Amino acid sequence: MKELGSAVAWRALAVLLVWQFLTQFAASQSAPALAADPKIKAALNEISGSRIQADIDKLVSFGTRSTLSPQDTAAIASGRGIGAAREWIKSEFERYSKDCGGCLEVKTDSYTQEPAERVKEPTVITNVYAVLEGNDPENRKRLVLVTGHYDSRNSDNYNVTDDAPGANDDASGTAVSLECARVLSKLKFPGTIIFLTVAGEEQGLYGSKHLAKVAKDEGWDLQAVLNNDIVGGDKSPEQDHSVIRVFSEGIPAVASDQDLRRIRLLGGESDSGSRQLARYMVEVGTSYGPGVKPMMIFRQDRYLRGGDHYSFNQQGFAAVRITEFREDFHHQHQNVRMENSLQYGDLAKFVDFDYVARVARLNAATLASLGAAPTPPANVHLETKGLENDSTLTWDASPGGLATSYQVLWRATTSPEWEHSQDVGNLTRTTMNLSKDNVIFAVAACDKAGHCSLPVVPTPER
Ligand SMILES: [Zn+2]
Repeated sequence: MKELGSAVAWRALAVLLVWQFLTQFAASQSAPALAADPKIKAALNEISGSRIQADIDKLVSFGTRSTLSPQDTAAIASGRGIGAAREWIKSEFERYSKDCGGCLEVKTDSYTQEPAERVKEPTVITNVYAVLEGNDPENRKRLVLVTGHYDSRNSDNYNVTDDAPGANDDASGTAVSLECARVLSKLKFPGTIIFLTVAGEEQGLYGSKHLAKVAKDEGWDLQAVLNNDIVGGDKSPEQDHSVIRVFSEGIPAVASDQDLRRIRLLGGESDSGSRQLARYMVEVGTSYGPGVKPMMIFRQDRYLRGGDHYSFNQQGFAAVRITEFREDFHHQHQNVRMENSLQYGDLAKFVDFDYVARVARLNAATLASLGAAPTPPANVHLETKGLENDSTLTWDASPGGLATSYQVLWRATTSPEWEHSQDVGNLTRTTMNLSKDNVIFAVAACDKAGHCSLPVVPTPER
């Protein structure tokens, strides 16, 4: 009897294990991943470390790119100062456009900054950008944007004569915008992609503030902003070249009192649009293997510091900051000099150009994935009419005609990343055999090739 009892126990255990195995797979719960598009993959292969190096060397060659440096015709002709840098960036975008039969519209956004913090005289601040307009009339209003700041500084904000090479901060980010424009302009996307470079960052984010306000005032449907600032992978011994930090705000800068109440009530502290964008980059990294791993930092920026993505956050847009793992402060905002046999200054020799190329691949893959994807579903709701342990999600069909199916994603409330996803077909309502009390849900729209939108977290439907 004793032996028989133990055999029964063993059989019961085996059945339990098989059951657990089967139920896990029966739900077809896979970790979220985007299908890798061969055309996008081929474009990523075009991104080159030597092209990046040429861009950064050229930007450094303008001596200083201080926003306060001269930008009159004579200064531009002399090849020194921010005016000369600006004209060169414009000419690069125009050259790429020529190579794709005029596919890029090269534009500037310029205004005069009156005297303010770190700006003594009225100063013209000019953002330069190229627009790769979407080829689908229903989808081209949807925008994604990559940016870097092309201005630089040395130890003294008002010193506009000595060198301020700014190779890492932020010729590296500027080179990412340029390189993304060069390779992605050879492809066509239903959505529109903007390649931006801004000025006035070092004095207080002036350029990006201006453009973000234009975007808000003109009602741009801007769905994602990737701000690359200090992505040079400084060659200090403690640098980790296998990762790139992606900073994202938790509570949106523009959250209303009502939003804050809902966030507190539902545990939505880690589900801003910016955070979804950061998670999306992790999925893109998994699908396309750009050679550098996004390391999400759940913080708006580095400790008590800021950057251009915040200008966009303040206007209500999803925006993240992308920065190397470890900054070397001897090479940042410093006059070029030797001190105690230590080299100071933001010189190109400290930049790892192949690392910048890998970061550019991650950016390009993210921009291309979003440019190709359908519009995210709107009005995503979780039904709460009755108390039940299932969860019913509803949403409006993605406009624009690209969506052929929807993906429900979910994760434990304590998990940083989406853990599971399920294709639920071309529906606008589905019931999941999971309790909304225990997980966080989201819904994304996907096309037939597997390009998926940013996921949207539901609000309660009462
Ligand atoms: Zn910077």
